[in-house]
Amino acid sequence: MCLPEVAEEVKRCCKCPLCKSRTNPVPGEGDPEAEVAFVGEAPGKEEDLEGRPFVGRAGRLLRSAIEELGFERYYITNAVKCRPPGNRTPFQSEVEACKPHLVRELLCVKPRLVVALGRTAARALLGFDAPIKELRGKMLPAKLGRAELKVLVTYHPAAVLRNPRLKDEFLRDLRKAYEVAYKQTSLARFVGKDEARKGSGGEGEEEEGAD
Ligand code: SF4
Repeated sequence: MCLPEVAEEVKRCCKCPLCKSRTNPVPGEGDPEAEVAFVGEAPGKEEDLEGRPFVGRAGRLLRSAIEELGFERYYITNAVKCRPPGNRTPFQSEVEACKPHLVRELLCVKPRLVVALGRTAARALLGFDAPIKELRGKMLPAKLGRAELKVLVTYHPAAVLRNPRLKDEFLRDLRKAYEVAYKQTSLARFVGKDEARKGSGGEGEEEEGAD
């Protein structure tokens, strides 16, 4: 199973109550061979209307930073693929219900590095909860199903919009992600495509809000 199949699965999914309130499900998008995958929290209003991730204000901030820093091939997705009503933080039960989709996306893309944007994404990827200030800027190992990941945690761009003083650290973290993804060539990609096709079998919040 790879990205088009995962997207179809997301579009048909009703594994949590968010499928009843969404306008559109929002699968990830980007280069299927990306070096870096960015994982946010959940779609916001504009993403819900368009069915695409990171197309609102926070998304534009992220995309412009990614482009300015020179990331060539990247993938963008969220821990939860349907908008929580009123942009509330997704419940942990919703994150867990949606995690198999996230795992399958990452198994398809096989990025060198995953950037967790905010606490919800970090928790979904790392499997434990901690304040974002304790995690940001750190490179942490994670295992999602059969996927072994290198995860760099930073702020969600929505948090940066609310508090512009975070922007310097946010950009510093993205620069670090660039260095790791493109200059540290010893970092191995983590799984074979065959595993992605089999599906994950995977086990499968400041603040940032929706993307
Ligand atoms: S949020 Fe995820 S698990 Fe819930 S209905 Fe949407 S795609 Fe399915």
